[in-house]
Amino acid sequence: MAPLDIAMLEERYKAVKAGIPPHVTLVAVSKTRTVAEIQALYDLGHRAFGENYPQELRDKQPMLPRDIEWHFIGHLQTNKVKYIAPFAHLVHGVDSTKLLDELDRRAMQNGRVQQVLLQVHIATEETKHGFSGDEVEALLQRAWTWPSLRLRGLMGMASNTADQDQVKEEFRGLSGLFTRLKGGADRPDFDVLSMGMSGDAPLAIAAGSTMVRIGTAIFGERG
Ligand SMILES: *Cc1c(COP(=O)(O)O)cnc(C)c1O
Repeated sequence: MAPLDIAMLEERYKAVKAGIPPHVTLVAVSKTRTVAEIQALYDLGHRAFGENYPQELRDKQPMLPRDIEWHFIGHLQTNKVKYIAPFAHLVHGVDSTKLLDELDRRAMQNGRVQQVLLQVHIATEETKHGFSGDEVEALLQRAWTWPSLRLRGLMGMASNTADQDQVKEEFRGLSGLFTRLKGGADRPDFDVLSMGMSGDAPLAIAAGSTMVRIGTAIFGERG
């Protein structure tokens, strides 16, 4: 493993921050990164971190400061909810009612209210997860079914393609859905639209993202 270059980390972090307007939350994606790397970014003042693997997050969390906001951004299996339920700040990729049920059950057990985002399938790739727009709309109608959850908004991943117009269209579609769901039913705490990563954050922000998930541009290429 390369030694930790804090000057480089700071330079990258500042460059990323400079491209993000104040109304957009930056989640630093720290999957596969060491505790030392995360601590270094924390020491630069950053607090919101995103992880993809439940056991990895469970293992790192106790070694790092308590006031970190941990975002779970990966695909979550119901049998792994227990690892993150005691402390997760926001779960981004919720893509099934089974998962909503389990998150609600575990939140209740932990005496917490769990904030979640519903993942919407916007990419052309079949491998990406998520609900359709109609499904999300139906779920919001019965949000009371999950008393220990708070549905804070939507999350999406655009296609992994060089075609910028396609990516733009996918983000615009998700943003339109978000605005419609938020406005139509007057939901003041339905206010998070998580879209955009290192490669496509500018397009996502232009389309209305309120939260970007950025790993590589801050920490460098993953090994
Ligand atoms: C890994 C990951 C990111 C960050 O990707 P980078 O290209 O490193 O910025 C964002 N969102 C999700 C869901 C991820 O899995």
